Amino acid sequence: MLTNITAPIVAAKPYIGRFAPSPTGPLHMGSLLSAVASYIDSKANNGTWLLRIEDIDPPREIKGSSKAIIASLEAHQLYWDGDILWQHDQYDYYRDCLAALTAKHLLYACNCSRVKGIYCGHCRDRNTPPPLPFSLRLKTTAIDVDFIDAIQGSYQQNISQQIGDFILWRKDGLPAYQLAVVADDEYQNITHIIRGSDLLESTPRQIYLANALQFNLTEYGHLPVLVNNEGQKLSKQTNASPIDDNSPMDNIYHVLQKLGQALPAEKPSSVTELLGWAIDNWDINAIPKQMSVQQS
Ligand code: GLU
Ligand code: ZN
Repeated sequence: MLTNITAPIVAAKPYIGRFAPSPTGPLHMGSLLSAVASYIDSKANNGTWLLRIEDIDPPREIKGSSKAIIASLEAHQLYWDGDILWQHDQYDYYRDCLAALTAKHLLYACNCSRVKGIYCGHCRDRNTPPPLPFSLRLKTTAIDVDFIDAIQGSYQQNISQQIGDFILWRKDGLPAYQLAVVADDEYQNITHIIRGSDLLESTPRQIYLANALQFNLTEYGHLPVLVNNEGQKLSKQTNASPIDDNSPMDNIYHVLQKLGQALPAEKPSSVTELLGWAIDNWDINAIPKQMSVQQS
């Protein structure tokens, strides 16, 4: 029996990175930090940088925010390679992934409500599915997932003991984030994922699922998230203000500083020049090895 999954070194492949915002509001300084870091890390490694809009959750979507996010990236000269991938176009592919798991007897229907903490596995042994609506859960086993995060260092989690059988398809008929993200990282041949530390805890689940689907594994680097004076992560819920698209130079300076990066001695004449300088001088080891840093 497989007792351990260790993410492999995939450095030999050409680097493909991505930024994958959810359209739940305009970019704030925290999401800009993720965009800038993933962009520069891709470019510093002669890589490709893709943009994926994670619009799988219509109830949480804020109208117009995809457009606003795209406009902000352009205003900051953060140009992605190729076409944007929209998750709302990927449903057939997500269903194919579910079918592959069903064929391996790894999925089951669950209609339990108000599950808190680790799911007890009540519906695992049903002979027939419960009445609709139900969610689909992945059967997990006591496997330790271990990986070295490029920023936060070594991280491990035992999936069945610390997470339990997790949901891949929601009761309301929508794909769960864990399924969509793993499916599309494979679909886009992503090799390196640089994103906020709020997702570090989800990463073992994603490695576990990728392994179950026989997908390629990726390398990870989890950035400190920006927090306000109360220690809360910047987000729509904590009223983070949208970034000002008219001051891209100041915004990029600010996030580079938060990322522990060196700054040019003389102010560059353009955003392009600043980004070029930042790419040439990028040092992933200088990023604070912390889960969060103060916004200001
Ligand atoms: N869409 C997710 C978010 O905005 C990020 C997904 C990811 O980077 O894996 O929080
Ligand atoms: Zn159940």
